[in-house]
Amino acid sequence: MATEWNPTFVTDELVTLTRSLGEPAKDLVILAEGNTSQRLTDGRIAVKTSGSNMATSTSDEFVIVDVAPLVALMNDPAATQADLTAVLDAGEHGDVHRRGSIETLIHVAVQAISPSAFVAHTHPTAVVSLLASVHAATAFDEAVYSDEAVVLGVPLFVPYAQPGIDLGRLFYNHLQAYVDKHGALPSLVLLGNHGIVAIASSAAGAEAISLMAVKGARVRLNAYAIGGVAGLGADVVAKYFDREDFAERRKALAGTN
Ligand SMILES: [Zn+2]
Repeated sequence: MATEWNPTFVTDELVTLTRSLGEPAKDLVILAEGNTSQRLTDGRIAVKTSGSNMATSTSDEFVIVDVAPLVALMNDPAATQADLTAVLDAGEHGDVHRRGSIETLIHVAVQAISPSAFVAHTHPTAVVSLLASVHAATAFDEAVYSDEAVVLGVPLFVPYAQPGIDLGRLFYNHLQAYVDKHGALPSLVLLGNHGIVAIASSAAGAEAISLMAVKGARVRLNAYAIGGVAGLGADVVAKYFDREDFAERRKALAGTN
């Protein structure tokens, strides 16, 4: 079975990150929105269950998923949403049915392309506002202030696709193209009309990226409201990326590898 329910594999670190991102004041998710995952030492991932609430998350509300069978499913053109749902089913435990999030393929795609310790997917109001606007595809093309560039690096934009197998495939293809071009995973992926994905080597990094994406979105929304965004400019950002201390600060804050 590609998916099993076994809370002993779920770390306190993952549960703490999930609860923290679910705090109402952060406005990243409400109800059962969003999901998090952690890569285990055997290459499998612990990923949040479908229908559970991040703010009150416990180790019971994760399933353990094998990456390879889900990648095979994603790459099989004949595979359907129903096939995905069946593979994510971990069965009934203590009268509760446990199934991996419908967005598990986002987490699987990251691991398949380049193993990473933590992946956090949320729907922050400020960022979704931009991603549901006419500026969605280009809003984060240029950094607007230096700390943002440090934490977010060069974000990736993925256009809208229906959550599930369609989004999984589109996300995988865009992520692979990004890695082919930049030689490393992005810290932040923006999903059109949907939300964000933070990818980091630490739980603190995943949280920092998520919070900085929200701040960056708020700055842009305010700037658009008073006439438009004036970014740092490609030359300025390129100079930052050439600096050794920039890479060190990015590693420390965003958990880049
Ligand atoms: Zn989502």
